[in-house]
Amino acid sequence: MIQWLKDELNKREKSSLYRRLPSPTMQNLKVIASSNNYLGLAKDERVLHAAREMILKYGTGSTGSRLTTGNFDIHERLEKELAHFKGTEACLLYSSGYLANLGVITALADRDTIIYSDEYNHASIIDACRLSGACIIVYKHNDMIDLERKMREYKNHFKKLIVTDGVFSMDGDLAPLDQLNNLKEKYNALLIVDDAHGTGVIGSCGRGTSEHFSTKPDVIIGTLSKALGSEGGFVCSNKTIIHYLIQKSRPFIFQTSLSPGNIGAALKSLHIIQTEKRHVMLKEKANDMRHFLRTLNYSVPQGMTPIIPILLGEASVALQFQKKLLELGLFIPAIRPPSVPEHTSRLRCTLMFTHSDNEIDWIKQAFQSMAPDA
Ligand code: PMP
Repeated sequence: MIQWLKDELNKREKSSLYRRLPSPTMQNLKVIASSNNYLGLAKDERVLHAAREMILKYGTGSTGSRLTTGNFDIHERLEKELAHFKGTEACLLYSSGYLANLGVITALADRDTIIYSDEYNHASIIDACRLSGACIIVYKHNDMIDLERKMREYKNHFKKLIVTDGVFSMDGDLAPLDQLNNLKEKYNALLIVDDAHGTGVIGSCGRGTSEHFSTKPDVIIGTLSKALGSEGGFVCSNKTIIHYLIQKSRPFIFQTSLSPGNIGAALKSLHIIQTEKRHVMLKEKANDMRHFLRTLNYSVPQGMTPIIPILLGEASVALQFQKKLLELGLFIPAIRPPSVPEHTSRLRCTLMFTHSDNEIDWIKQAFQSMAPDA
């Protein structure tokens, strides 16, 4: 009866695309250089303590949706602080970044909407666009000429969204928010930016990609699960859009609200981010690593984020690299299609503020021993 499932799995296995959960013992390796815990806050003593305090005061779970029994003062406090951090009027929490994307896009778009979506957008944006029932027009990655050509075609259409990652998760490059902002003004669209990987990391104060470009997208979506070392999602925007989401956004309306421990952790991390400027040193570490890898002839695109893709081509090659690195005590996962386009399989190396000099040297030595010219 389930032969077709087995056939599909066998097919995957043969093409090096089979997904396996990394062993939990990976957590005990000498170095992990692939975490989204960019600023090292997920294990910061102060963040752990803040989470614990909130759990003791409010409980382990929030036990209800925001519209029923799950609206606590700490939800509103975190929303206020995130709105302030991002420079917007208001904010709304979700229980993950994935659900924030789903919740915003399905609320703001319907069958009458045209969504312009970057071809490299995160899966949660792609899923959200599909679920909304809107007409989806995919434009070439960061290609403003292609986008404008496609926008011109429907310039009189009344409901249009442009949706993009702020920092692209598999390439680590930035969306040109200044140019996207010009296009959204010119063609009267709303600009939605998923800044999951930019928040806490990009911009002179770590406020994200919008700070870097000095722009104000209509909607900024974020996650608490990366630089903020917690879990949960959020949406920063003007009051009208936030009130609209409260009416219409099904993942917001029907989910149990964010748990107190996650809120405590996020509040503390937000404070640390704003006072310690960890992202500045992280950027230097990442620039140095990028430079080092390029001198070894690895194919590493230019960038300014802690996400360092090492392009290897075929999935089987990327898997071999992952395996060799594991033998050296280093975990950096191979990223393969469909997460990235065919023939662009890669290692996705990410650095953390808390990587010690020794750990950085370890990473460098590992790559040196496997270098194309070694
Ligand atoms: N957007 C982007 C760009 C992401 O990389 C991710 C997580 N990988 C998400 C959204 C989803 O965030 P979360 O893990 O909080 O659900």
